Amino acid sequence: MDNNGIIPCRPGERATLRVRSLEPYSSEFTSGQIGVLADIAEQFGSGFVHVTPRQTVEIPHIDRAALEGIMELLNKEGLYTGSSGTYLRNVAACSRWCLYNAIPMSNLAYKLNNLHADVALPGKTNISLSGCDFSCVRSRTSDIGVISRAEIELTDRKCKKCTLCVKEPLGCQVDAIRITDNGVIIDTDKCVRCGFCSNICRPGTISVQFRSFDIFVGGRGGIKPGEAVFYKRIQTEEEVIAEIARILGRYSKKAHEGERIGDMMERLGIKALEE
Ligand code: SF4
Ligand code: SF4
Ligand code: SF4
Repeated sequence: MDNNGIIPCRPGERATLRVRSLEPYSSEFTSGQIGVLADIAEQFGSGFVHVTPRQTVEIPHIDRAALEGIMELLNKEGLYTGSSGTYLRNVAACSRWCLYNAIPMSNLAYKLNNLHADVALPGKTNISLSGCDFSCVRSRTSDIGVISRAEIELTDRKCKKCTLCVKEPLGCQVDAIRITDNGVIIDTDKCVRCGFCSNICRPGTISVQFRSFDIFVGGRGGIKPGEAVFYKRIQTEEEVIAEIARILGRYSKKAHEGERIGDMMERLGIKALEE
């Protein structure tokens, strides 16, 4: 790795550029940005781009002599190279367009990426933000994962027994709801606080009491996979941003070089993130 987002490729005089969008949403590309990426691939690369799992795009086989001009083209469109080495990897968010979102996460990803995009850390660090427990961006196998939650409650509005809240595709996925002659019963041990039932309950028998974020830490994929552990439940986006800054700060201070958050937790315990 010779620079943040400029990656060696074959043949040696060429480079692969790993490109992320920092404006307007770091988890999406505008049609204009896609056009610029296509033009650069066509003019200076191989005509191909590679879409990475972390919502960045790699443009391979770039002529290094053209790098300066390419950077100008990218930056004008809110595009930047990065997300490599020990720099914080692109903060990935699931789709803000998805019906299942308890809280859409694109805005949070945008803020975290713009705050920490150029921060070098002791080891590889991923942050992944999911709008519900389906965890499409794999929040539970990331160094820091966030999953948004909707805490539901039963109201005094009469259930019409439409059964939508217990049926596929939009009803409860974990069989936590029973419709009985005496009303609706929610099994709170089974409920994962996704809020799907409240989205489709027209009379409002089931509604959202409050929304929140669960933070998980210490997970990873790759050669030594491991599941993250639950760390904290938090109410607001601002608190999530502050908590993640604290976690990254303590990790930077206490981890050995090359150690990931999960490795550090194995050595020092989860309390290392608290103190
Ligand atoms: S994690 Fe949930 S809200 Fe996000 S894209 Fe997947 S299903 Fe939709
Ligand atoms: S909020 Fe709970 S009860 Fe409602 S659909 Fe989700 S898991 Fe089921
Ligand atoms: S969606 Fe609402 S009205 Fe329909 S069965 Fe469920 S609780 Fe009752």
